[in-house]
Amino acid sequence: MKPLIVVTNDDGVLSQGIAVLAEVAAQFGEVLVCAPDTERSGSSHAITFHTHLRANPIREGWWHVSGTPVDCTYLALHHLCDRKPALVLSGINAGYNLGTDVFYSGTVGGASEAYLRGISAIATSVDRGASPWWIVPALRRLVPRVLAEPGVHLLNVNAPALPGHEGAPDEDARRHAERLPVEVTRLGAREYEDMVEHRTDPQGRPYFWIGGPARPTSRAAGEDTWAVAEGRVSVTPLELDITATDLGIARRLVGDDSQSTEER
Ligand code: MN
Repeated sequence: MKPLIVVTNDDGVLSQGIAVLAEVAAQFGEVLVCAPDTERSGSSHAITFHTHLRANPIREGWWHVSGTPVDCTYLALHHLCDRKPALVLSGINAGYNLGTDVFYSGTVGGASEAYLRGISAIATSVDRGASPWWIVPALRRLVPRVLAEPGVHLLNVNAPALPGHEGAPDEDARRHAERLPVEVTRLGAREYEDMVEHRTDPQGRPYFWIGGPARPTSRAAGEDTWAVAEGRVSVTPLELDITATDLGIARRLVGDDSQSTEER
């Protein structure tokens, strides 16, 4: 039996990225697409349990859901799939998910939910305005290897356009994406302009738009932000245990004398 691959995203079921991702997935297994019916970018690991969800089939093997990427992965894994999926793919997001973006990203959220449930997952993103095809050769190499690899793995993959081809059409990306080198990286620094737009609606009430554009930050070799700036596909393995490596400060803060004495 072919491996079952679930495909989700946060840009919505109608985005170009998910169509390309489903096409790549179909080369390696049976595909079930389950994605939000509207854009849910920035929904992180949000799950809907205070209200109902609707899931509608839009065509054979494709479902759209009135929820977040995590809702989609959850519904697919526990209800829509006829067997345990071998892999969950999320994306291909229109815009990078680098560094601390992984805490906000619905693309990463949809993948992390699978990982928490013991299924390997890959979050996939390309630079804003770049064709999703830029990431495809890297995925074609990664997907069969992740399927064959024992254990449960979570990868965050980001691809730039080939330098000099930014904004190039899909045909160009399909022709040249093979030329992008691939680099294994750590999460780098990601900073945004802090911005609150205060406006007034037609009824005279205030409303707000929050969040500004990304600003340039220092990049160190080996970081994801560095790799994409260097014109490489970045592959970052993620773990979800964010416990600090040093527990000593917390021990001192709670006044655990036996431990802090030891450390002195
Ligand atoms: Mn998105």
